[in-house]
Amino acid sequence: MKILLFLIAVVVLLWLLRGGQRRRAPPPSARPTNPAEPQPMLACAQCGVHLPRDEALPGKGGVFCGDAHRAAFEQAHPEA
Ligand SMILES: [Zn+2]
Repeated sequence: MKILLFLIAVVVLLWLLRGGQRRRAPPPSARPTNPAEPQPMLACAQCGVHLPRDEALPGKGGVFCGDAHRAAFEQAHPEA
């Protein structure tokens, strides 16, 4: 009976060691390949500064880096 318990302990120990090794070394496919995808850069129609598309503010006549520049551009270029 003692030998059986010893064998079970050894099997559990080996199983735990193998599981720990697998957790320490994740497969390459689990890693994100490209977390920051390249975004097209757009130029502010008012000041010309380039900013990623997600941060650009769409407005009349183009995209803008901020609310102030959109308002300034729309004031300078009033539509008829
Ligand atoms: Zn701007």
